[in-house]
Amino acid sequence: MKYAVIGDPISHSLSPIMHNANFHSLNMNDSYEALHIPVERFNQIREIIEEKDISGFNITIPHKERIIPFLDEIDAQSETVGAVNTVKIVDGKWIGYNTDGLGYVTGLKQVYPDLENAYILILGAGGASKGIANELNKFVQPKLTVANRTISRFESWTLDVNAISLEEAETHLDEFDIIINTTPAGMDDNKEHVISLKHLSPNTLVSDIVYIPYKTPFLEEAEAKGNQIYNGLDMFVYQGAESFRIWTGNQANIQEMKYAVLKNLKGE
Ligand code: NAP
Repeated sequence: MKYAVIGDPISHSLSPIMHNANFHSLNMNDSYEALHIPVERFNQIREIIEEKDISGFNITIPHKERIIPFLDEIDAQSETVGAVNTVKIVDGKWIGYNTDGLGYVTGLKQVYPDLENAYILILGAGGASKGIANELNKFVQPKLTVANRTISRFESWTLDVNAISLEEAETHLDEFDIIINTTPAGMDDNKEHVISLKHLSPNTLVSDIVYIPYKTPFLEEAEAKGNQIYNGLDMFVYQGAESFRIWTGNQANIQEMKYAVLKNLKGE
């Protein structure tokens, strides 16, 4: 079977390395490639995918919302989030899923086992934030708090959360057990800090869903204060593993997937 990830840009995507390592470790002959699809060609997406005889694919920036009108069905999570990162093709029918939220929360449970009782602050209110908030809302008891730069973003939110500004978040930081940055501030060479960590409590777990760089300036600052930190690498691996489960019905080899990504990040 053939699989792919579509996006623009896409050449730096680690999804092919990760999925092909998984196929290889499971003795599967399947393959996974990166397809560069600029916005201008997006209306031909069904022809492009069908011509290549692809059985399932991932969608990354900037097409996670754009793909929806091309699908025959979407699952409940994608409906709530308003974005799709996984498509499964069954007898020509395109079905959309969103595995980002589950991917993050699966990893977070392992580093913070008492997640059910945690007071959690999410910074950012985009697609990734909504997916994570929806997953956490299924079992975390205290009401989630989500802070965003643009308050009007919450108008499209149907989830029950405390919606606040980044400024409010800064002054109440010590009330949270876990702080999750879902904004791209700090990604790649961006040295921006999404908020000041002045009021951070030493017991708070500080997380960022970005993993390139491996430690964003936000995580570096938290670590320098002595806090436990947690980046977005596991999220990437588990969202991929969940896509694989949706496509094949099988469990992925998480260890091999993570190892392949880490090896690439270290430049080995
Ligand atoms: P998105 O839908 O575009 O949302 C971006 C959010 O970040 C918005 O709430 C935006 O606020 C906020 N934001 C952007 N720049 C900011 C800044 N300089 N200061 C403060 N807030 C800022 O993006 P997304 O799809 O949720 O993705 C967000 C990040 O997660 C990206 O870096 C992406 O690469 C990463 N991600 C990682 C994984 C993984 O597997 N680890 C998976 C998915 C996404 P406004 O509303 O004010 O514009």
